[in-house]
Amino acid sequence: MNVLLIGPPGSGKGTQGERLAQELGIEHLAAGDLLRAEVAAGTPIGQQVAELMERGELVPDIIILTLVLPPVLAAVHDSGYLLDGFPRSVQQAELARSIAARAPIISPHAVFYLDVPRDELVRRILARAQVQDRADDNPETVENRLRVFEQATSPLIEHYRRRGLLTVIDANQDADKVTADILESLDRIKGDSGRV
Ligand code: AMP
Repeated sequence: MNVLLIGPPGSGKGTQGERLAQELGIEHLAAGDLLRAEVAAGTPIGQQVAELMERGELVPDIIILTLVLPPVLAAVHDSGYLLDGFPRSVQQAELARSIAARAPIISPHAVFYLDVPRDELVRRILARAQVQDRADDNPETVENRLRVFEQATSPLIEHYRRRGLLTVIDANQDADKVTADILESLDRIKGDSGRV
């Protein structure tokens, strides 16, 4: 089973991604983690993206595709993926879709949008900044990341709704309840499609 998680920064994509992947026995892939690993290792890609990430801007499509595609392909040949943080724009979704036209095995079966009010997102990110050392969890960058989400990423909600793949999840709840809601919804989706 292949699942995408979409949500603004602070909506719990990482936490839910990890839990769901474990529950479902599939691979958790986080676009941001793949990029942070490049930055930490000081690779040429890492050097190219560090400043963009610090400002909360999206990195170029070709870079994120280059990083995400190999583990996606490996995961689908196993039991599937739980991908959080990709795609982050309709353009990225269309690029992935054109690749999936030749390799349908990589297509997502379900897409979840984690819905959280803006005030709560800011509160969560600044709280996370106290415990994690992320260069982009500071008040100035948070504003930009939320703006980038609104402008570039939120159109994906309609994109996947039109394709009949989207489920909106109330993610302004206890993390356990969010996980349970997603799993319940996946059960329904599997039942309806009779597959996976
Ligand atoms: P995240 O950990 O998902 O919040 O991502 C952290 C940062 O990595 C983002 O603010 C972007 O700078 C970059 N990033 C993550 N995923 C993508 C993507 N799909 N496309 C472009 N940039 C991305």
